[in-house]
Amino acid sequence: MKPVLYIVIPCYNEQEVLPITAPQFLTKLLVLRDLGKISDESRVLFVNDGSRDRTWEIIRELAASDPHYLGISQSRNRGHQNAVLAGLMEAKDRCDITISIDCDGQDDIDAMDRMVDAYLDGCDVVYGVRASRRTDTFFKRFTAQSFYKFLAAMGAEVVYNHADYRLISARVLQELAGFREVNLFLRGLVPLVGFKSTTVSYDRAERLAGKSHYPLGKMLTLAMDGITSLSVKPLRLITGFGVFVALVSFLGVVWAIVTALSGKSVEGWASMTSIVCFVSGVQLISLGIIGEYVGKTYLEVKQRPRYIISERTWDDAEAGRKS
Ligand code: UDP
Ligand code: MG
Repeated sequence: MKPVLYIVIPCYNEQEVLPITAPQFLTKLLVLRDLGKISDESRVLFVNDGSRDRTWEIIRELAASDPHYLGISQSRNRGHQNAVLAGLMEAKDRCDITISIDCDGQDDIDAMDRMVDAYLDGCDVVYGVRASRRTDTFFKRFTAQSFYKFLAAMGAEVVYNHADYRLISARVLQELAGFREVNLFLRGLVPLVGFKSTTVSYDRAERLAGKSHYPLGKMLTLAMDGITSLSVKPLRLITGFGVFVALVSFLGVVWAIVTALSGKSVEGWASMTSIVCFVSGVQLISLGIIGEYVGKTYLEVKQRPRYIISERTWDDAEAGRKS
């Protein structure tokens, strides 16, 4: 039995690039099928993440033009991670393997051959890893690399230089479905599920059209989400730092008593003020970090759905048959 592959592609305001890359994904699927690696039941599944442009219309036109294209639409924009999850969860009961990939053509689709080979060799998860970032600007390369280093330092283990281009078997997805967190950071969650995994490296190209939805601000949010949803290390760091500040202030108190007893009156207004300001700054940052975790807990206990699918292209087909 050949495995059924679903290529899961999140799309948010991608009307410029989708008409270029969609046929490339289809061609890749058909080539893999013709090589006898995957079944003809395999599909390209687009997830429209509440786009405000013509993206969903384009997806519906694609689905009408070839049965290998499918699409689902989220009821509103929920962000990249939730869009990928919606696609994976939709696919998990219909296929044996999924490959998630961005729709902008930046990730080399030829790496899919090696991913499927690795699956056929017995791996359940195959991470696509960027071999080089030559085409990224210096700024993007620098911020992205700092991102991985910072995550690792803060106790959130992720695969270095791996974004969301990966193969996951349906077996692993069934387990991933049991991870109920609302604050999603798939790059950190998938390794936690375990199973045999490997990496495949590829060169990252430039976006074929349209523009990036991940400016620095969103990258920082993603990093913060990644850290706070995977690790409590920052809280420990706060405790450690608190102990350090307490020790230093104890020494300060000893010094103050000694100088007072020796009769030298200390002017010390400036040093006093700076210490007070510094320590209040530290306290505010610490409170902020703790607040972040409390906020996350609040969002998690509500157990809201992580995605809501409002339309599916196969419902269109159904409606077409009925009328
Ligand atoms: N995306 C999404 N929802 C969002 C933002 C982005 O589904 O709210 C999709 C987008 O269409 C693309 C992928 O996520 O397929 C990655 O986004 P982008 O290429 O803008 O990020 P970058 O590659 O620059 O980090
Ligand atoms: Mg991109």
